Amino acid sequence: MTEEGYKEAAQNVTAWYRSHGRDLPWRRTKDPYAIWVSEIMLQQTQVETVKPYYERFINELPTAADLAEAEEQRVFKLWEGLGYYRRASHLKEAAETVVRDYAGRFPDTYEELLKLKGVGMYTASAIASIAFGIPKGVVDGNTLRIVSRLLNREDNIALQKTKNAFGEVMDAMIRYADPSDFNQGMMDLGAMICTPAKPVCEACPIASLCQARLAGTVGRLPVNNKKINKSILEYMTVVIRESDRYFMIPNENGLLQNLYGFAQYSCDTPSEFEQLFYDQYGVRIRLTEYVSDIKHVFTHREWRMHVYGGEVAGERSFGNRTDFYTLEEIEKLPVSTAHLKVLKSYLKAVN
Ligand code: SF4
Repeated sequence: MTEEGYKEAAQNVTAWYRSHGRDLPWRRTKDPYAIWVSEIMLQQTQVETVKPYYERFINELPTAADLAEAEEQRVFKLWEGLGYYRRASHLKEAAETVVRDYAGRFPDTYEELLKLKGVGMYTASAIASIAFGIPKGVVDGNTLRIVSRLLNREDNIALQKTKNAFGEVMDAMIRYADPSDFNQGMMDLGAMICTPAKPVCEACPIASLCQARLAGTVGRLPVNNKKINKSILEYMTVVIRESDRYFMIPNENGLLQNLYGFAQYSCDTPSEFEQLFYDQYGVRIRLTEYVSDIKHVFTHREWRMHVYGGEVAGERSFGNRTDFYTLEEIEKLPVSTAHLKVLKSYLKAVN
């Protein structure tokens, strides 16, 4: 994307946020302490749950000094029900640091914020931009998804190198807008419009710039494959549909020999899958949408299947191939349990 594109995207998101952003209690202040408390609470908890906890916490302990002096039991009591109590101890420890090392004034640079206990890159960027107007883009699931779609990039967002690269894109955009409103706009865009499933592109302020929308690849982005260990095998599994029939083939060897399953390859991106399928069957297919991740445990290994829906692309179809089956026919085939789970999840998502 060009600099002009970044500029337009940043300004559109900011303008949209000013008229459509969510009105949340912690957005009525620029106090870094209050913003920090809200961000720590939001780390593993939903917005609606956090609201009353935040209000109570800030009423009872309105400054970093109050929190630093408070009895630990009192802090835990205020946290009761929010879970992940380690967050509360880190909060208190960081408040003590602010009082001891910064004379009670919250550090006002991204680098200094990162040194506080429990403050990671996301939280430091959020506080720096919202409280101090520092142009540092926030990088989390929401913004990674938006950037991946905006640029139509299949980079795996589970990898640190993608997070770094997409973080640079966020930083490139934020320079052209008010950092606080831009970051909060991206957070809200991810929560309300550019959602993982069924994004509302018609209402999106960056729809005219969105490369995935232009290419028709929104549904299959972002790519998010978390590789865990050797006994866990990762696959992309695609339910290819032609009217009311589904492509299934028997396994020739391996764990599920002779059992039927959907097309499946150990690969990382939709484009790679389409190429592998073409190489094997000579037919162009198109992955249309991401469906879900399915886990299936065998005795000594585990499959992680990233399930997508697909269709035959362009003119050529499978013709007279008999590899397509209706749902009634599939019921009579010997299908592996793993792939029955895939089918169930697919049907649930598309119906
Ligand atoms: S146009 Fe759609 S896919 Fe693209 S950023 Fe907006 S909501 Fe997301």
